[in-house]
Amino acid sequence: MMVDISKQKVSVKCGCGRNHQVTLKDVAARKVMRCSCGVNIQLEDRNGSVKRSIADTNKSFNDLEKVLRRFGW
Ligand SMILES: [Zn+2]
Repeated sequence: MMVDISKQKVSVKCGCGRNHQVTLKDVAARKVMRCSCGVNIQLEDRNGSVKRSIADTNKSFNDLEKVLRRFGW
C-alpha cells in the first residue's frame, strides 16, 4: 500500500464555467493552468497550506502503513 495524497484530484473552475482537474501537487506547486477560453488560471496555495497538508497526510498514511504491517496486513 503506497498512498500519495498529492495525486488526489481536485477541480478548479474557470470564470468561463469550465472545470479543470488538477492534482493537489499542482496546487502546491502553484502551477498555471491554461483554459481553452484563453485564460490562465494561477493555482493558489495560500500560506503553503496545501503543501503542508500533503506532507502531513502522507506522513499519517505512512505511519498507518507501518502499524498495519506490524499486525500482518
Ligand atoms: Zn476558461
